[in-house]
Order: sequence, then structure tokens, then C-alpha cells
Amino acid sequence: MNEQKLPDYGDVVAAAERIAGYANRTPVMTSRTVNEAFGAEVFFKCENFQRMGAFKFRGAMNALLQFTPAQRAAGVVAFSSGNHAQAIALSAKLLGIPATIVMPLDAPAVKVTATKGYGAKVVTYDRYTEDREQIGRDLAQKYGLTLIPPYDHPHVIAGQGTAAKELIEEVGPLDALFVCLGGGGLLSGSALAARHLSPECAIYGVEPEAGNDGQQSFRSGKIVHIDTPKTIADGAQTQHLGAITFPLIQQNVDDILTASDDELIAAMTFFAERMKMVVEPTGCLGFAAARARKAALQGKKVGIIVSGGNVDISRYAALLAG
Ligand SMILES: *Cc1c(COP(=O)(O)O)cnc(C)c1O
Repeated sequence: MNEQKLPDYGDVVAAAERIAGYANRTPVMTSRTVNEAFGAEVFFKCENFQRMGAFKFRGAMNALLQFTPAQRAAGVVAFSSGNHAQAIALSAKLLGIPATIVMPLDAPAVKVTATKGYGAKVVTYDRYTEDREQIGRDLAQKYGLTLIPPYDHPHVIAGQGTAAKELIEEVGPLDALFVCLGGGGLLSGSALAARHLSPECAIYGVEPEAGNDGQQSFRSGKIVHIDTPKTIADGAQTQHLGAITFPLIQQNVDDILTASDDELIAAMTFFAERMKMVVEPTGCLGFAAARARKAALQGKKVGIIVSGGNVDISRYAALLAG
């Protein structure tokens, strides 16, 4: 990937133009309770109201809209058990592109059903004995499909950056921005937008406490790999940052913070009770970290990206019931 130019703010602007008309311009919500508790002005960018329920539609759509006619005809392949699978499946359906999604045999039935519901072909693998990246690459090779990875791709990163661009254009420059972090597509894209539109803004990535590979990487200066972390934040169970997302994060982000599962549940409960929003555990990372540091945010203007709302409803109820 070294020979490839890193995406920049111009790519985020181009992505925003490209996906307009397909992606929702999601609402920015506020809560008087939060503002009073923080002594600050807090703005939530609600990607739980994005199409298919998460910001990942932005990056997927931006990538597929740049396919050549030959790539469109042959189709796209992605490996994911989560929101990226649904994002690729829906984007492909809207553009009439055949999609193949590689999912683990034991993926939740709801996710398999949702992905098939968007018309994608689902290929399963055994997550204990098979390598999904290899399966994805083999399918790509064999059938001439284009592989779109969940975060480490310039078009995906530029697309993800459009949410922060919308937020800052709507509410003005921020003092701090909190962004959920898995492999870093959302964080690196958001950071491109925020550095340009609000140069003084402190930009924080937030990952699960049990899987702080991003924090270790950021602080040590090289990409740290970890085992799949045990956390309720299933959208951020990534094992390492990417070859493209990491340098962008190093250049533009101020720090990487963590949130515990208990803090995620407390944030999820607050969203449900006070703001009437269903937010998935991973989508609570930014708010959970901001709450834990609210003393330092007094008098500031704070942006929080709420990244998604896809959670099995019985699991959601069980998590809330504690
Ligand atoms: C994928 C995902 C993330 C993490 O995004 P990355 O680009 O991998 O860092 C955060 N929240 C939700 C809801 C997701 O689906």
C-alpha cells in the first residue's frame, strides 16, 4: 500500500458529492440533560439513523460508485459478519451489482437473513479453521470479483469521513470530537474532515478497554496485533489497525481512549431512557469516553459520533436488564 497516496480531505468532499442522494443526511441531536451534566455543548451525530443502521453505508457506497463497468458486471466480495456486510449488500443492490459476502458459519441468523434480504449471496466459513481473508481473496481471484475490505481502503475511509463533515458544517467548529474505533476507517476519515474544517479540534478515537490495540499502536508508533478481544462492542473486535488507517490516525488524531463494557451499558441505557434511541454497544464508545472525562470538557463544544444501532433486540434487552 506504500505506493498508494493516502486519502485527503478532497477525497472526503468528493465522497460527499458522490453519495448524496443515496445516503441519509443523519440528524444531529442534543440533550439538555447531557449539556447540564457536562457544563458543555454536546452534539450527537446519529449514524444509527443511517441507511442499514450504521455509518458503514457511506464508505461502501463511495467505493461501489467508483467501480468500472467491468467491475460492476463481475461483482463485489466482502468478508464481515457485521455492518460492513449489510452496507456492501445494500449498496450493491441499489446499484445492481452482484454481491458475495463471506460470513462465519455461526454468524447470528438475523445478520445472515438481513444480508440475504438485500439480495447478496452468502458464503460461510468455519472461523476456527478457515481464514476469511484468504476465502475472500480466492473468490475475488476465481470470479474476477472486487474485494472491498471493511476499513483499510481509501474509498471506504473517504466515505466514512462524510459524517464528521456534515456534523461540523452543521454545528460549526468543535473543541473536541469523539469517534468509535475498530479498524480505524471511521476515525481516520472523521479526522481528515475535522482537521480541515475545525483545525483546533482535539480528535479522540475510542475503543473497547479489552481490545486497546489502537491505543498501544498510537503510543508505540507501530501497528500492534492482538487476539480477538472479549467485549460487548462487537463492531470493534478488530485485531489491528490498517496500513492506511494507521498513518492517517498518527497524523491527525490527538489520542486514543478506551471505554469498559460497563461504561458502554451505562451509555446505552442513557441513550434509550433519555434520548429514546437504540444504539448498539459499539456505537456507545464515543459517548462513554466523553462521559468519563466530562470535567475536562467544561465550557467546550463537543461532537460525538454515534456510529450505529444494529443490535439483536433480545440481546439489547438482556444488556439493558444487566
Ligand atoms: C465498523 C463499526 C465501527 C468501527 O469502525 P472502523 O472503521 O472499523 O473503525 C464502529 N461502530 C460501528 C457501529 C461499526 O459498525
